[in-house]
Amino acid sequence: MEDKLLRAQAALEKHGIKTQVVDTPEEAKALILERVQPGQRVGVGGSLTIDQLGVVPELEARGCEILWHWRARSPEEMLSLRRAQLTADVFLASSNAVTEDGRLVNIDGVGNRVGAMVFGPPKVILVCGQNKVVPDLAAALDRVHNVAAPLNGRRLNTGTPCAVVGRCTDCNSPGRMCSVTVIIERRPQKTDLEVILVRQELGY
Ligand code: SF4
Repeated sequence: MEDKLLRAQAALEKHGIKTQVVDTPEEAKALILERVQPGQRVGVGGSLTIDQLGVVPELEARGCEILWHWRARSPEEMLSLRRAQLTADVFLASSNAVTEDGRLVNIDGVGNRVGAMVFGPPKVILVCGQNKVVPDLAAALDRVHNVAAPLNGRRLNTGTPCAVVGRCTDCNSPGRMCSVTVIIERRPQKTDLEVILVRQELGY
């Protein structure tokens, strides 16, 4: 597993994407806390991984404004937070899959998460558990449709076919989670994009 993570790290670095490999979620959290300045506006993508790190309460304690649509109390507030994430100082999220040849593969139903990853906040930090590292693009697309989407669908109660049968049927469901697929092949030119790979399972 370690070789797999180190291979992904080397390939991402070659593609201009700063990448750290750490052993524990606590180390990933510490790196985020080093990089985010007190009082900054921090957007958070729909990310179980970031939630699992427990970093958001610590950022709030440092005076950061947290823009996280999972906390919205109404559909209107949810949309407003999704839009506000695009103009945050920093964006925190995960990718759905990381390839050993240095690609970050992401699906999104609404698009706020993938939009913020590539042109929005000037600083983006993506945290990915070892379970998301796969050999190549084909394996990544298989993972996002047949592993990540079914698990997220069940968690979010999307009612999509993948959530029911456990694999993708290329549906037309109104709750489709993969209306947009973004593959980051090199660092987006105007974004300071950093990846933290964790030698533990995190998120889906
Ligand atoms: S197309 Fe539909 S069934 Fe396939 S992964 Fe996306 S949401 Fe699930």
